[in-house]
Amino acid sequence: MIDTYRHKGLRKKLVEQLIEKGITSNSILEVIGKIPRHFFMDSGFIEFAYRDQAFPIGSGQTISQPYTVAFQTELLGAKKHDKILEVGTGSGYQCAVLLELGAKVYTIERHRDLYLKSRALMTQMGYKPYFFYGDGYAGQPNHAPFDKILITAGAPDIPRDLLKQLKIGGRMVVPVGGSNGQVMIAIDRISEDEFKESEHGHFSFVPMLKGRQ
Ligand code: SAH
Repeated sequence: MIDTYRHKGLRKKLVEQLIEKGITSNSILEVIGKIPRHFFMDSGFIEFAYRDQAFPIGSGQTISQPYTVAFQTELLGAKKHDKILEVGTGSGYQCAVLLELGAKVYTIERHRDLYLKSRALMTQMGYKPYFFYGDGYAGQPNHAPFDKILITAGAPDIPRDLLKQLKIGGRMVVPVGGSNGQVMIAIDRISEDEFKESEHGHFSFVPMLKGRQ
């Protein structure tokens, strides 16, 4: 795996596109400009790595579009020292973005092949999240509560059980909807049993499915 000047140049252009599309967080733009996204994609797709598009990563799943990664990260308000639960490790790219921002990340993947692949790649790259092979609907009760919870697959409804694993003052970001697309929802935990929801536009994710595979 090599990161050439050409890749760096393409990343710079990608960052410019993200700014045009409305991403304003300097720290997020900086880490997207730094992380070699092409490492997270199969070799056949490397030439597409710095287009603002989603791409297949095997097992019928996709690496999210860079704009979507930046948008979710910004909406989550991810920052240094946050303890974050990510549902849907996939390629590991979104997880790398959170780690580069200085967060402590617990990431869950339900596809065994993807879990093994992203764990191997990220370990090789020197990233150290806590990896779990399991069903994100169950979260990680042993490690709860979390400052933030980020769901990177389309959930049919808000996964209510996961809200219990959120700190008071914490935020969950989840795309909610079916195969025709989802609405991005942010849920803030105001108190023990009080939550506030807000909607943030339309997106298209692969579905959040139950159980492991
Ligand atoms: N964050 C990933 C996005 C991958 S796509 C990235 O940056 O590449 C969404 C991922 O969520 C897929 O890998 C899919 O297998 C996984 N997924 C779907 N439902 C899940 C569940 N219930 N628990 C854990 N992972 C899930």
